[in-house]
Amino acid sequence: MVSRVDTLCDADKEMMLDFSRLCITRLGDHLPLKLFISVLRHFLDANVLKEIDKDRLIIEHAAAAFYGGKGRAVIDVNGLFEMTKQVDHEFINRFSNTFLSIRVRYDDFAEIRKERIFSFIGLVFDLLGNWQDGLSFAEVVKRTFSEERYAQILCEILHLYNLETKMLSNSITFHGPAAKLKDLFAEKLLAAMESTAGEIAVEHARRAYDCAVENLRKAPRKPVVHTTITRQNFHAVEEFLDALSGLPIKGVGFSFYTPHRTEDNGLFIPVDERDPILDELLRLRKKYWRILGLTATMANQFRKDGEFSEWNSIDKCPVNKVCNCYNADGTLKPCTYGSDADCSRCCCASIPLYRAAIRHLDPLALFMIYRMVK
Ligand code: SF4
Repeated sequence: MVSRVDTLCDADKEMMLDFSRLCITRLGDHLPLKLFISVLRHFLDANVLKEIDKDRLIIEHAAAAFYGGKGRAVIDVNGLFEMTKQVDHEFINRFSNTFLSIRVRYDDFAEIRKERIFSFIGLVFDLLGNWQDGLSFAEVVKRTFSEERYAQILCEILHLYNLETKMLSNSITFHGPAAKLKDLFAEKLLAAMESTAGEIAVEHARRAYDCAVENLRKAPRKPVVHTTITRQNFHAVEEFLDALSGLPIKGVGFSFYTPHRTEDNGLFIPVDERDPILDELLRLRKKYWRILGLTATMANQFRKDGEFSEWNSIDKCPVNKVCNCYNADGTLKPCTYGSDADCSRCCCASIPLYRAAIRHLDPLALFMIYRMVK
């Protein structure tokens, strides 16, 4: 089975290869550069693979920190920066020759690369934070970001890569006749990279979204879409509902993000900050009544003064008492969120839903359960 880290690395690889291909194709439109590029092709292909290797390094470290319960802010970005230099050194040793030499001036772009590393860490944390068992990459992207926001993040990452490449061009010296073309090549390459970055980012965001939407459309029964609200995506709920309201679904359910016990990854929204978000969801319910699966009785249980404390421990939790939950390998787990879920910060929506229906005889909650199972 492909791991989540591999899936993230594959998505990055696909985007970087598309980006590189398109940039080189566009450069080839400039006749004087055509020959130059054909000579350099091997170098350019290896260069993008080197970037993909560095991205993998960052993704693996970010994921290890996430699963180790560390916050994104404590990851040693300087240490990671030093590791990426090692990947550069191996590349330089392979490619310095009589045609070109590379002496990297890291001071020129260290801060830009660190910013890019930090953007990647944020993206990995946001996606892994929403990645529940059984979800595809496209579904996780859809749960985590609006399409526009995801395209914006990809574009920022590519833009930082472009800036770094621009600074890096000062570190490369071409020898022989190629030296005369270096400035023209650098100028055209950077123009092509900047004009291509936005296009590739939009295209890859759209692909992730199209894939998730296509899966929704081909579901044999109308599905209920479940979404996790985090500190990163709560501002995009209306946009999200707007996109889903045109699709063949039964409804949309919301939980807040439930962290693991030792986790502090910035996704969790504490109970005393939830009231305005719940008010907003109830406002949106009037507009998206057909799909939004939240009733006032459910919402009130998540509030600071709600009934939240009546179930937020493993001994009192009805999920733990009446449900059998399984890991992907078939072994039992105490809760859908896994063995390390922090019950004191539990934000599972199914408990408020069933409590609203059974304890409070909320007719809307009863109807929602009926719609879900019918
Ligand atoms: S984290 Fe899981 S076991 Fe704990 S209260 Fe929430 S649903 Fe129940």
